[in-house]
Amino acid sequence: MATHTTRMLIIGSGPAGLSAAIYGARAGMEPIVVQGLQPGGQLTITTDVENYPGFRDVIQGPWLMQEMQAQAEHVGTRMMWDTIVDVDIASGSPFRAVGDSGDEYIGDTLVIATGAQAKWLGVPGEQELSGKGVSACATCDGFFYRGKKVAVIGGGNTAVEEALYLTNHSEDVTLIHRRDELRAEKILQDRLFAHPRITVIWNKAVDRFIGDPASGGLTGLALRDTVTGEMSEFATEGAFVAIGHAPSTELFKGKLETDESGYLVVEAGTPKTAVPGVFACGDVMDHTYRQAVTAAGTGCMAALDAERFLASLDFARNQQKKEAAASA
Ligand code: NDP
Repeated sequence: MATHTTRMLIIGSGPAGLSAAIYGARAGMEPIVVQGLQPGGQLTITTDVENYPGFRDVIQGPWLMQEMQAQAEHVGTRMMWDTIVDVDIASGSPFRAVGDSGDEYIGDTLVIATGAQAKWLGVPGEQELSGKGVSACATCDGFFYRGKKVAVIGGGNTAVEEALYLTNHSEDVTLIHRRDELRAEKILQDRLFAHPRITVIWNKAVDRFIGDPASGGLTGLALRDTVTGEMSEFATEGAFVAIGHAPSTELFKGKLETDESGYLVVEAGTPKTAVPGVFACGDVMDHTYRQAVTAAGTGCMAALDAERFLASLDFARNQQKKEAAASA
C-alpha cells in the first residue's frame, strides 16, 4: 500500500479529467489522475468522432482519448491505474481518497470528473449491435444515418431533443415511447408534434434489437405493445436509446450536494462545489450539453480554479508560519 500526494487529485480520465490534468500539470501542480473503471471515459465506447475541433478527418474516440492521455503525461501528469472507492471530503483540504488497490491518495485540491453513463435498455441484441446501428448519442452518431430511417427510444427531454436533432440528417424519424404521454417539457413536445418528418409510436417497448453485427448491423426492432402485449416488428437501420443518463456520483452521496437527477451541484457558471478546494467538471455536473468539448472546457475551468484556490491556501499557510515564527 502506497501513499501518493499531489497538489491536484483528479478522479476520472475522460476529456474533463484529462483537460484538468493538462492545465494543472502546466501550472506546476503535478496532478495525479486516478483513471477509474473506464479509462478514457465514454469516448472509448464510441467509434467515429467528427465534432471535436481540430480534426478535419474522422477520428476515433479511443484514439482521441489516448492522445489526450499522452499529452497529459507528457506535461507531467501521473496516471494511476486504480479506482477510488472512498473519499473524505468533510475534513477539508488536503482531501484523502482510497483506491481499490488499497493505495491512499492525498490532494490539496480535488477535481471530480467521474462522468456519466448513458442508460441502456438491457435487452437482447443491444450490446452486440452497439456502434452497428444502435447508439446512445444522436449528436455523436446521427450524421452516419444520413438519408436512413431512424428510431429514438424514450420519452424525456433527451429523446425529444435527439429526435429533433436527427431530422437534420434523416427524412424519417420515429420516436418510440413505452407510455401514451411524454415526460419532456411542453415546448419540446410542441416542436416534436409539429415536425412533419417525425412520427410517434405510443405504448411500445423494445423487446429485442434485430440484425447481424457481422453483416449490415441493425435491421429492425421487435416491439411489444405495453397495453395489449402484442408483438410487432419495426424496420430501421438506426436506433437511438435515449432513456436518460446516470451520473457517476455514488462515491459522493451524502458528501456533496446533488440535484434531483443525481448530478453534482456547482456554483452557476463555475466548476466550484460548496466545499472549498473541491471542483466538479464534465458530465458529472452537466446534464445539458454532455459533449467531449464542453467536458474538456469545464476541466480547464476546474484546473484554473484549483490553481487560484491553491494560491490562496499557500498565502494563508505562509501567513500562519510567519505569525508562528513572530510569536516564538
Ligand atoms: P428522463 O429520465 O427525463 O427520461 C427518460 C425517458 O426514458 C422517460 O420517458 C422514460 O419513460 C424512458 N425510459 C426510462 N427507462 C426506460 C426503459 N427501460 N424502457 C423504455 N423507456 C424508458 O431522462 P432524460 O435524459 O430525457 O433527461 C434527464 C435530465 O436531463 C432531465 O432532468 C431532463 O430535463 C434534463 N435534460 C434537459 C435538457 C434541456 O434542458 N435542454 C436536455 C436533455 C435532458 P417514462 O416517461 O415512462 O418514465
